[in-house]
Amino acid sequence: MGAELIMLTTAQVSKSTPLLPESWNKVKDRFKDEYGDATYKSWMENVAPLGSDGFTLFLSAPTKFIREWLYSNYGTKIIELARREGIAASRLEISVSGTPLKESAPVATIEEELGEQPNVVDFPSGDLSSPIDPRFTFDNFVVGKSNELAFAAARRVAEAAAASPESNPLFLYGGVGLGKTHLMHAIAGHIKKANPSRKVVYLSAEKFLHHFIRALRYKTILEFKEQLRSADMLLIDDVQFINGKDSTQEEFFHTFNALIDSNRQLVISCDRSPTDLDGLEERMRSRLGWGLVADIHSTDYELRLGVLESKAEAAGIPFPREVMEFLASRITSNIRELEGAFNRVVAHSTLVGGGITMENATELLKDLVRANDRRLTLEEIQKKVAEYFNLKVTDMYSARRSRVVARPRQIAMYLAKKLTTKSLPEIGRSFGGKDHTTVMHAIKKVEELVVTDAEFSDSVEMLTKILKQ
Ligand code: ADP
Ligand code: MG
Repeated sequence: MGAELIMLTTAQVSKSTPLLPESWNKVKDRFKDEYGDATYKSWMENVAPLGSDGFTLFLSAPTKFIREWLYSNYGTKIIELARREGIAASRLEISVSGTPLKESAPVATIEEELGEQPNVVDFPSGDLSSPIDPRFTFDNFVVGKSNELAFAAARRVAEAAAASPESNPLFLYGGVGLGKTHLMHAIAGHIKKANPSRKVVYLSAEKFLHHFIRALRYKTILEFKEQLRSADMLLIDDVQFINGKDSTQEEFFHTFNALIDSNRQLVISCDRSPTDLDGLEERMRSRLGWGLVADIHSTDYELRLGVLESKAEAAGIPFPREVMEFLASRITSNIRELEGAFNRVVAHSTLVGGGITMENATELLKDLVRANDRRLTLEEIQKKVAEYFNLKVTDMYSARRSRVVARPRQIAMYLAKKLTTKSLPEIGRSFGGKDHTTVMHAIKKVEELVVTDAEFSDSVEMLTKILKQ
Protein backbone atom coordinates (compact mmCIF):
# COMPACT_ATOMS: atom_id res chain seq x y z
CA MET A 1 0.00 0.00 0.00
CA GLY A 2 1.04 3.55 -0.44
CA ALA A 3 3.37 2.53 -3.23
CA GLU A 4 4.28 5.33 -5.58
CA LEU A 5 2.76 5.55 -8.98
CA ILE A 6 5.47 5.68 -11.57
CA MET A 7 5.19 5.56 -15.31
CA LEU A 8 7.86 3.37 -16.75
CA THR A 9 10.15 4.21 -19.56
CA THR A 10 11.17 1.42 -21.90
CA ALA A 11 14.77 1.99 -20.88
CA GLN A 12 14.00 1.17 -17.29
CA VAL A 13 12.27 -2.05 -18.16
CA SER A 14 14.93 -3.17 -20.57
CA LYS A 15 17.55 -3.04 -17.83
CA SER A 16 15.69 -5.75 -16.00
CA THR A 17 15.88 -9.44 -16.58
CA PRO A 18 12.78 -11.31 -17.64
CA LEU A 19 10.99 -13.48 -15.14
CA LEU A 20 10.43 -17.13 -15.63
CA PRO A 21 6.77 -17.51 -16.52
CA GLU A 22 6.43 -20.41 -14.07
CA SER A 23 7.38 -18.31 -11.09
CA TRP A 24 4.94 -15.61 -12.07
CA ASN A 25 2.20 -18.18 -12.60
CA LYS A 26 2.88 -19.46 -9.09
CA VAL A 27 2.53 -15.94 -7.74
CA LYS A 28 -0.80 -15.66 -9.49
CA ASP A 29 -1.94 -19.03 -8.17
CA ARG A 30 -1.11 -18.04 -4.65
CA PHE A 31 -2.94 -14.79 -5.10
CA LYS A 32 -5.97 -16.73 -6.27
CA ASP A 33 -5.74 -19.07 -3.29
CA GLU A 34 -5.59 -16.18 -0.95
CA TYR A 35 -8.26 -13.88 -2.35
CA GLY A 36 -10.52 -16.21 -4.30
CA ASP A 37 -11.46 -16.50 -7.90
CA ALA A 38 -13.52 -13.34 -8.28
CA THR A 39 -10.86 -11.01 -6.92
CA TYR A 40 -8.24 -12.80 -8.93
CA LYS A 41 -10.20 -12.41 -12.15
CA SER A 42 -10.87 -8.74 -11.50
CA TRP A 43 -7.37 -7.65 -10.67
CA MET A 44 -4.65 -10.19 -11.34
CA GLU A 45 -5.61 -12.43 -14.22
CA ASN A 46 -4.42 -10.04 -16.90
CA VAL A 47 -1.33 -8.75 -15.16
CA ALA A 48 1.87 -9.75 -16.92
CA PRO A 49 5.44 -9.82 -15.63
CA LEU A 50 7.95 -7.64 -17.41
CA GLY A 51 11.01 -8.49 -15.38
CA SER A 52 12.98 -7.80 -12.27
CA ASP A 53 16.24 -5.97 -11.75
CA GLY A 54 16.90 -7.70 -8.47
CA PHE A 55 15.24 -4.90 -6.60
CA THR A 56 12.19 -3.74 -8.47
CA LEU A 57 9.60 -6.05 -9.88
CA PHE A 58 8.16 -4.68 -13.13
CA LEU A 59 4.65 -5.66 -14.08
CA SER A 60 2.19 -4.56 -16.67
CA ALA A 61 -1.52 -4.17 -16.08
CA PRO A 62 -4.19 -3.77 -18.76
CA THR A 63 -5.56 -0.46 -17.49
CA LYS A 64 -4.64 2.46 -15.33
CA PHE A 65 -7.47 1.70 -13.00
CA ILE A 66 -6.29 -1.84 -12.37
CA ARG A 67 -2.78 -0.53 -11.87
CA GLU A 68 -3.91 1.93 -9.22
CA TRP A 69 -6.08 -0.62 -7.56
CA LEU A 70 -3.18 -3.06 -7.36
CA TYR A 71 -0.91 -0.41 -5.93
CA SER A 72 -3.28 0.65 -3.25
CA ASN A 73 -4.70 -2.72 -2.27
CA TYR A 74 -2.37 -5.53 -3.17
CA GLY A 75 1.09 -3.98 -3.61
CA THR A 76 2.66 -5.33 -0.44
CA LYS A 77 1.01 -8.70 -0.96
CA ILE A 78 2.32 -9.09 -4.50
CA ILE A 79 5.83 -8.34 -3.31
CA GLU A 80 5.47 -10.84 -0.50
CA LEU A 81 4.19 -13.55 -2.85
CA ALA A 82 6.88 -12.83 -5.44
CA ARG A 83 9.58 -13.14 -2.82
CA ARG A 84 8.19 -16.44 -1.70
CA GLU A 85 8.68 -17.65 -5.25
CA GLY A 86 12.27 -16.53 -5.19
CA ILE A 87 11.74 -13.38 -7.25
CA ALA A 88 13.99 -10.64 -5.90
CA ALA A 89 11.58 -7.80 -5.30
CA SER A 90 11.58 -5.00 -2.81
CA ARG A 91 9.38 -2.65 -4.70
CA LEU A 92 6.85 -2.74 -7.43
CA GLU A 93 6.41 -0.79 -10.63
CA ILE A 94 3.40 -1.35 -12.79
CA SER A 95 3.02 0.01 -16.26
CA VAL A 96 -0.14 0.13 -18.31
CA SER A 97 -0.09 -2.15 -21.31
CA GLY A 98 -3.21 -0.85 -22.99
CA THR A 99 -4.04 -4.32 -24.28
CA PRO A 100 -7.77 -4.80 -24.56
CA LEU A 101 -9.44 -6.51 -21.67
CA LYS A 102 -10.60 -10.03 -21.95
CA GLU A 103 -14.32 -10.51 -21.86
CA SER A 104 -14.14 -11.84 -18.33
CA ALA A 105 -12.39 -8.79 -16.97
CA PRO A 106 -15.05 -6.71 -15.30
CA VAL A 107 -13.21 -3.47 -14.78
CA ALA A 108 -11.65 -0.86 -16.96
CA THR A 109 -10.10 2.51 -16.53
CA ILE A 110 -12.79 5.02 -16.14
CA GLU A 111 -10.82 7.86 -17.66
CA GLU A 112 -9.50 5.72 -20.49
CA GLU A 113 -12.63 3.84 -21.30
CA LEU A 114 -14.87 6.84 -21.35
CA GLY A 115 -12.87 8.20 -24.24
CA GLU A 116 -13.50 5.31 -26.59
CA GLN A 117 -17.03 4.28 -25.95
CA PRO A 118 -18.24 0.91 -27.01
CA ASN A 119 -21.64 1.19 -28.56
CA VAL A 120 -23.26 -1.40 -26.42
CA VAL A 121 -25.34 -0.85 -23.38
CA ASP A 122 -24.62 -3.97 -21.50
CA PHE A 123 -26.06 -3.22 -18.16
CA PRO A 124 -28.28 -5.63 -16.30
CA SER A 125 -31.66 -4.01 -16.21
CA GLY A 126 -33.21 -6.54 -13.87
CA ASP A 127 -32.54 -7.07 -10.23
CA LEU A 128 -29.27 -5.64 -9.08
CA SER A 129 -29.24 -7.43 -5.75
CA SER A 130 -27.17 -10.49 -4.99
CA PRO A 131 -29.30 -13.39 -3.77
CA ILE A 132 -30.28 -13.53 -0.12
CA ASP A 133 -29.33 -16.70 1.68
CA PRO A 134 -32.44 -17.95 3.49
CA ARG A 135 -30.31 -19.88 5.97
CA PHE A 136 -29.21 -16.67 7.63
CA THR A 137 -32.10 -15.57 9.84
CA PHE A 138 -32.59 -13.71 13.10
CA ASP A 139 -34.03 -16.87 14.58
CA ASN A 140 -30.89 -18.88 14.20
CA PHE A 141 -28.55 -16.09 15.20
CA VAL A 142 -27.32 -16.84 18.70
CA VAL A 143 -27.16 -13.71 20.81
CA GLY A 144 -24.60 -13.06 23.54
CA LYS A 145 -22.81 -10.14 25.14
CA SER A 146 -20.49 -9.72 22.18
CA ASN A 147 -23.16 -9.26 19.54
CA GLU A 148 -26.34 -8.14 21.33
CA LEU A 149 -26.03 -4.53 20.24
CA ALA A 150 -25.50 -5.42 16.59
CA PHE A 151 -28.34 -7.92 16.74
CA ALA A 152 -30.77 -5.44 18.31
CA ALA A 153 -29.81 -2.75 15.84
CA ALA A 154 -30.26 -5.11 12.90
CA ARG A 155 -33.66 -6.18 14.20
CA ARG A 156 -34.77 -2.64 14.67
CA VAL A 157 -33.84 -1.67 11.14
CA ALA A 158 -35.46 -4.79 9.71
CA GLU A 159 -38.70 -4.22 11.58
CA ALA A 160 -39.00 -0.48 11.02
CA ALA A 161 -41.52 0.48 8.38
CA ALA A 162 -39.16 3.08 6.95
CA ALA A 163 -35.69 4.47 7.45
CA SER A 164 -35.16 6.51 10.57
CA PRO A 165 -32.49 9.20 10.74
CA GLU A 166 -31.01 7.96 14.01
CA SER A 167 -30.15 4.59 12.54
CA ASN A 168 -29.22 5.64 9.05
CA PRO A 169 -26.81 4.36 8.05
CA LEU A 170 -26.64 1.31 10.25
CA PHE A 171 -22.94 0.54 10.40
CA LEU A 172 -22.08 -2.97 11.61
CA TYR A 173 -18.48 -3.77 12.21
CA GLY A 174 -16.37 -6.56 13.62
CA GLY A 175 -13.72 -9.14 12.80
CA VAL A 176 -14.07 -11.87 10.25
CA GLY A 177 -16.48 -14.75 10.88
CA LEU A 178 -18.45 -13.01 13.61
CA GLY A 179 -21.81 -12.76 11.89
CA LYS A 180 -21.92 -9.51 9.90
CA THR A 181 -23.03 -11.12 6.66
CA HIS A 182 -25.44 -13.31 8.58
CA LEU A 183 -27.13 -10.24 10.07
CA MET A 184 -27.32 -8.45 6.75
CA HIS A 185 -29.00 -11.40 5.09
CA ALA A 186 -31.31 -11.69 8.08
CA ILE A 187 -32.38 -8.05 7.63
CA ALA A 188 -32.95 -8.44 3.90
CA GLY A 189 -34.72 -11.78 4.33
CA HIS A 190 -37.00 -10.43 7.02
CA ILE A 191 -38.15 -7.53 4.84
CA LYS A 192 -38.64 -9.72 1.81
CA LYS A 193 -41.03 -11.83 3.84
CA ALA A 194 -42.76 -9.25 5.98
CA ASN A 195 -42.99 -6.54 3.38
CA PRO A 196 -42.35 -7.87 -0.11
CA SER A 197 -43.22 -4.60 -1.79
CA ARG A 198 -40.20 -2.87 -0.30
CA LYS A 199 -37.27 -3.03 -2.66
CA VAL A 200 -34.15 -4.36 -0.98
CA VAL A 201 -30.76 -4.41 -2.66
CA TYR A 202 -27.93 -6.38 -1.09
CA LEU A 203 -24.43 -6.20 -2.58
CA SER A 204 -20.95 -6.99 -1.47
CA ALA A 205 -18.74 -3.92 -1.85
CA GLU A 206 -16.86 -5.67 -4.59
CA LYS A 207 -20.03 -6.33 -6.53
CA PHE A 208 -21.08 -2.75 -6.00
CA LEU A 209 -17.80 -1.50 -7.35
CA HIS A 210 -17.96 -3.89 -10.24
CA HIS A 211 -21.43 -2.68 -11.28
CA PHE A 212 -20.42 0.87 -10.70
CA ILE A 213 -17.38 0.73 -12.90
CA ARG A 214 -19.23 -1.08 -15.62
CA ALA A 215 -21.86 1.58 -15.52
CA LEU A 216 -19.24 4.27 -15.92
CA ARG A 217 -17.67 2.35 -18.73
CA TYR A 218 -20.86 1.87 -20.66
CA LYS A 219 -22.25 5.27 -19.79
CA THR A 220 -25.16 3.76 -17.93
CA ILE A 221 -24.34 5.50 -14.72
CA LEU A 222 -27.68 7.27 -14.63
CA GLU A 223 -29.55 4.00 -14.94
CA PHE A 224 -27.34 2.50 -12.30
CA LYS A 225 -27.96 5.33 -9.88
CA GLU A 226 -31.63 5.18 -10.70
CA GLN A 227 -31.72 1.51 -9.81
CA LEU A 228 -29.96 2.16 -6.54
CA ARG A 229 -32.06 5.13 -5.69
CA SER A 230 -35.24 3.23 -6.29
CA ALA A 231 -34.24 0.81 -3.54
CA ASP A 232 -35.93 1.29 -0.19
CA MET A 233 -32.99 -0.32 1.47
CA LEU A 234 -29.44 -0.75 0.28
CA LEU A 235 -27.09 -3.13 2.10
CA ILE A 236 -23.38 -3.04 1.29
CA ASP A 237 -21.29 -5.81 2.78
CA ASP A 238 -17.55 -5.50 3.53
CA VAL A 239 -17.26 -1.85 2.69
CA GLN A 240 -13.55 -1.86 3.62
CA PHE A 241 -12.90 -2.96 0.03
CA ILE A 242 -13.79 0.50 -1.14
CA ASN A 243 -11.02 1.77 1.03
CA GLY A 244 -7.98 3.18 -0.68
CA LYS A 245 -7.37 5.96 -3.13
CA ASP A 246 -9.28 5.73 -6.30
CA SER A 247 -11.42 7.93 -8.43
CA THR A 248 -14.62 6.00 -7.89
CA GLN A 249 -14.73 6.69 -4.21
CA GLU A 250 -16.11 10.16 -4.57
CA GLU A 251 -18.97 9.05 -6.80
CA PHE A 252 -19.60 6.10 -4.61
CA PHE A 253 -20.23 8.19 -1.56
CA HIS A 254 -22.31 10.70 -3.49
CA THR A 255 -24.64 7.83 -4.09
CA PHE A 256 -24.63 7.00 -0.40
CA ASN A 257 -25.43 10.58 0.44
CA ALA A 258 -28.19 10.76 -2.08
CA LEU A 259 -29.78 7.64 -0.68
CA ILE A 260 -29.68 8.86 2.86
CA ASP A 261 -30.97 12.26 1.86
CA SER A 262 -33.93 10.67 0.15
CA ASN A 263 -34.60 8.70 3.28
CA ARG A 264 -33.64 5.26 2.06
CA GLN A 265 -32.21 2.92 4.64
CA LEU A 266 -28.57 2.10 4.25
CA VAL A 267 -26.88 -0.81 6.02
CA ILE A 268 -23.15 -1.19 5.87
CA SER A 269 -20.83 -3.82 7.21
CA CYS A 270 -17.13 -3.42 7.64
CA ASP A 271 -14.20 -5.12 9.33
CA ARG A 272 -13.38 -1.92 11.22
CA SER A 273 -15.08 1.13 12.66
CA PRO A 274 -15.75 4.23 10.55
CA THR A 275 -12.99 6.10 12.38
CA ASP A 276 -10.51 3.39 11.44
CA LEU A 277 -11.42 3.42 7.77
CA ASP A 278 -8.15 4.73 6.52
CA GLY A 279 -7.97 6.12 3.02
CA LEU A 280 -11.41 7.69 3.15
CA GLU A 281 -11.95 11.37 3.03
CA GLU A 282 -12.75 12.81 6.41
CA ARG A 283 -16.23 13.99 5.46
CA MET A 284 -17.12 10.55 4.17
CA ARG A 285 -15.77 8.89 7.25
CA SER A 286 -17.79 11.08 9.52
CA ARG A 287 -20.87 10.65 7.38
CA LEU A 288 -20.62 6.89 7.75
CA GLY A 289 -20.64 7.25 11.50
CA TRP A 290 -23.68 9.53 11.61
CA GLY A 291 -26.27 6.88 12.12
CA LEU A 292 -26.09 3.87 14.36
CA VAL A 293 -22.70 2.26 14.76
CA ALA A 294 -22.75 -1.21 16.31
CA ASP A 295 -19.75 -3.42 16.80
CA ILE A 296 -19.48 -7.17 17.21
CA HIS A 297 -16.77 -8.21 19.64
CA SER A 298 -14.84 -11.44 19.71
CA THR A 299 -16.86 -14.37 20.96
CA ASP A 300 -16.90 -15.64 24.53
CA TYR A 301 -17.23 -19.21 25.73
CA GLU A 302 -20.99 -19.01 26.41
CA LEU A 303 -21.73 -17.74 22.93
CA ARG A 304 -19.61 -20.42 21.31
CA LEU A 305 -21.36 -23.09 23.33
CA GLY A 306 -24.70 -21.56 22.40
CA VAL A 307 -23.87 -21.66 18.71
CA LEU A 308 -22.89 -25.33 18.95
CA GLU A 309 -26.06 -26.24 20.84
CA SER A 310 -28.19 -24.47 18.29
CA LYS A 311 -26.43 -26.16 15.41
CA ALA A 312 -26.68 -29.61 16.96
CA GLU A 313 -30.36 -29.07 17.60
CA ALA A 314 -31.01 -27.83 14.08
CA ALA A 315 -29.17 -30.79 12.63
CA GLY A 316 -30.96 -33.21 14.95
CA ILE A 317 -27.71 -34.84 15.89
CA PRO A 318 -26.82 -36.17 19.32
CA PHE A 319 -23.64 -34.27 20.05
CA PRO A 320 -22.04 -35.20 23.39
CA ARG A 321 -21.83 -32.32 25.84
CA GLU A 322 -18.20 -33.08 26.51
CA VAL A 323 -17.27 -32.68 22.84
CA MET A 324 -19.22 -29.45 22.61
CA GLU A 325 -17.37 -28.02 25.57
CA PHE A 326 -14.10 -29.11 24.06
CA LEU A 327 -14.87 -27.30 20.83
CA ALA A 328 -16.17 -24.18 22.58
CA SER A 329 -13.08 -23.90 24.74
CA ARG A 330 -10.51 -24.65 22.05
CA ILE A 331 -11.81 -23.11 18.82
CA THR A 332 -11.91 -19.53 19.95
CA SER A 333 -11.02 -17.56 16.84
CA ASN A 334 -14.45 -16.96 15.34
CA ILE A 335 -17.78 -18.57 14.62
CA ARG A 336 -16.95 -19.49 11.06
CA GLU A 337 -14.08 -21.69 12.25
CA LEU A 338 -16.20 -23.08 15.04
CA GLU A 339 -18.87 -24.07 12.52
CA GLY A 340 -16.18 -25.60 10.35
CA ALA A 341 -15.00 -27.70 13.26
CA PHE A 342 -18.56 -28.77 14.07
CA ASN A 343 -19.21 -29.75 10.48
CA ARG A 344 -16.01 -31.69 10.26
CA VAL A 345 -16.85 -33.76 13.31
CA VAL A 346 -20.39 -34.39 12.08
CA ALA A 347 -19.29 -35.28 8.57
CA HIS A 348 -16.75 -37.72 9.89
CA SER A 349 -19.24 -39.53 12.05
CA THR A 350 -21.78 -39.67 9.19
CA LEU A 351 -19.31 -40.89 6.61
CA VAL A 352 -17.05 -43.11 8.64
CA GLY A 353 -19.35 -43.99 11.50
CA GLY A 354 -18.14 -44.55 15.02
CA GLY A 355 -20.23 -41.75 16.54
CA ILE A 356 -19.06 -38.44 17.90
CA THR A 357 -16.50 -39.00 20.61
CA MET A 358 -13.81 -36.98 22.33
CA GLU A 359 -11.24 -39.21 20.78
CA ASN A 360 -12.46 -38.66 17.22
CA ALA A 361 -12.90 -34.94 17.73
CA THR A 362 -9.44 -34.45 19.21
CA GLU A 363 -7.87 -36.32 16.36
CA LEU A 364 -9.92 -34.59 13.66
CA LEU A 365 -9.36 -31.11 14.97
CA LYS A 366 -5.70 -31.35 15.89
CA ASP A 367 -4.56 -28.79 13.37
CA LEU A 368 -7.37 -26.34 14.07
CA VAL A 369 -6.83 -26.54 17.81
CA ARG A 370 -3.14 -26.01 17.38
CA ALA A 371 -3.72 -22.97 15.18
CA ASN A 372 -6.08 -21.55 17.78
CA ASP A 373 -3.63 -22.20 20.62
CA ARG A 374 -0.94 -20.46 18.74
CA ARG A 375 -2.86 -17.24 18.41
CA LEU A 376 -0.40 -14.49 19.06
CA THR A 377 -0.74 -11.95 21.81
CA LEU A 378 0.35 -8.34 21.59
CA GLU A 379 2.76 -8.94 24.46
CA GLU A 380 4.53 -11.67 22.50
CA ILE A 381 4.87 -9.41 19.51
CA GLN A 382 6.31 -6.61 21.61
CA LYS A 383 8.72 -9.00 23.29
CA LYS A 384 10.00 -10.56 20.08
CA VAL A 385 10.38 -7.26 18.27
CA ALA A 386 12.25 -5.78 21.23
CA GLU A 387 14.56 -8.79 21.33
CA TYR A 388 15.20 -8.60 17.62
CA PHE A 389 16.28 -4.98 17.82
CA ASN A 390 18.08 -5.33 21.14
CA LEU A 391 15.69 -3.08 22.98
CA LYS A 392 13.89 -3.33 26.29
CA VAL A 393 10.26 -4.39 26.15
CA THR A 394 9.37 -1.18 27.95
CA ASP A 395 10.63 0.72 24.90
CA MET A 396 7.65 -0.68 23.07
CA TYR A 397 5.23 1.35 25.13
CA SER A 398 7.41 4.24 26.23
CA ALA A 399 7.06 7.74 24.85
CA ARG A 400 10.64 7.81 23.53
CA ARG A 401 10.69 9.21 20.06
CA SER A 402 14.22 8.55 18.86
CA ARG A 403 14.25 6.59 15.64
CA VAL A 404 16.14 3.62 17.15
CA VAL A 405 13.10 3.02 19.27
CA ALA A 406 10.35 4.49 17.16
CA ARG A 407 10.90 2.34 14.04
CA PRO A 408 10.86 -1.00 15.88
CA ARG A 409 7.79 0.18 17.74
CA GLN A 410 6.12 0.96 14.43
CA ILE A 411 7.04 -2.47 13.15
CA ALA A 412 5.54 -4.05 16.24
CA MET A 413 2.30 -2.12 15.71
CA TYR A 414 2.23 -3.13 12.08
CA LEU A 415 2.74 -6.79 12.98
CA ALA A 416 0.10 -6.53 15.66
CA LYS A 417 -2.41 -5.41 13.04
CA LYS A 418 -1.28 -7.96 10.51
CA LEU A 419 -0.98 -11.02 12.72
CA THR A 420 -3.74 -10.55 15.28
CA THR A 421 -7.39 -9.63 15.12
CA LYS A 422 -6.97 -6.70 17.48
CA SER A 423 -8.44 -3.37 16.45
CA LEU A 424 -6.37 -0.23 15.98
CA PRO A 425 -7.58 1.34 19.26
CA GLU A 426 -6.78 -1.88 21.14
CA ILE A 427 -3.31 -1.95 19.65
CA GLY A 428 -2.77 1.71 20.47
CA ARG A 429 -3.76 1.13 24.08
CA SER A 430 -1.31 -1.71 24.58
CA PHE A 431 1.50 0.40 23.19
CA GLY A 432 1.36 2.82 26.08
CA GLY A 433 -2.03 4.38 25.51
CA LYS A 434 -1.43 5.65 22.03
CA ASP A 435 -4.16 6.91 19.78
CA HIS A 436 -5.46 4.74 16.92
CA THR A 437 -4.21 7.34 14.45
CA THR A 438 -0.67 6.75 15.73
CA VAL A 439 -1.09 3.07 14.96
CA MET A 440 -2.49 3.89 11.54
CA HIS A 441 0.45 6.15 10.85
CA ALA A 442 2.87 3.42 11.95
CA ILE A 443 1.27 0.91 9.62
CA LYS A 444 1.47 3.30 6.68
CA LYS A 445 5.09 4.10 7.42
CA VAL A 446 6.04 0.43 7.57
CA GLU A 447 4.15 -0.32 4.38
CA GLU A 448 6.05 2.44 2.66
CA LEU A 449 9.44 1.37 3.94
CA VAL A 450 8.86 -2.28 3.11
CA VAL A 451 8.60 -1.26 -0.51
CA THR A 452 11.46 1.22 -0.62
CA ASP A 453 14.02 -0.17 1.82
CA ALA A 454 15.22 -3.73 1.26
CA GLU A 455 16.98 -4.11 4.60
CA PHE A 456 13.95 -2.86 6.46
CA SER A 457 11.78 -5.19 4.48
CA ASP A 458 14.00 -8.14 5.41
CA SER A 459 13.64 -7.33 9.09
CA VAL A 460 9.88 -7.24 8.81
CA GLU A 461 9.84 -10.47 6.88
CA MET A 462 12.13 -12.17 9.38
CA LEU A 463 10.05 -11.03 12.33
CA THR A 464 6.89 -12.21 10.64
CA LYS A 465 8.48 -15.63 10.24
CA ILE A 466 9.63 -15.72 13.85
CA LEU A 467 6.20 -14.77 15.14
CA LYS A 468 4.30 -17.16 12.91
CA GLN A 469 6.29 -20.17 14.11
P1 ADP B 1 -18.69 -12.20 8.77
O1 ADP B 1 -19.55 -11.70 7.67
O2 ADP B 1 -18.71 -11.33 9.99
O3 ADP B 1 -17.30 -12.54 8.35
P2 ADP B 1 -20.54 -14.40 8.71
O4 ADP B 1 -21.82 -13.66 8.90
O5 ADP B 1 -20.23 -14.88 7.36
O6 ADP B 1 -19.32 -13.56 9.29
O7 ADP B 1 -20.54 -15.61 9.76
C1 ADP B 1 -19.73 -16.76 9.58
C2 ADP B 1 -20.54 -17.99 9.92
O8 ADP B 1 -20.83 -18.01 11.30
C3 ADP B 1 -21.87 -18.03 9.19
O9 ADP B 1 -22.13 -19.35 8.81
C4 ADP B 1 -22.87 -17.55 10.24
O10 ADP B 1 -24.13 -18.13 10.04
C5 ADP B 1 -22.24 -18.04 11.52
N1 ADP B 1 -22.53 -17.16 12.65
C6 ADP B 1 -21.89 -16.02 12.97
N2 ADP B 1 -22.39 -15.48 14.09
C7 ADP B 1 -23.39 -16.30 14.48
C8 ADP B 1 -24.30 -16.28 15.59
N3 ADP B 1 -24.27 -15.33 16.52
N4 ADP B 1 -25.18 -17.30 15.68
C9 ADP B 1 -25.21 -18.28 14.77
N5 ADP B 1 -24.38 -18.36 13.71
C10 ADP B 1 -23.47 -17.38 13.56
MG1 MG C 1 -19.02 -11.35 5.67
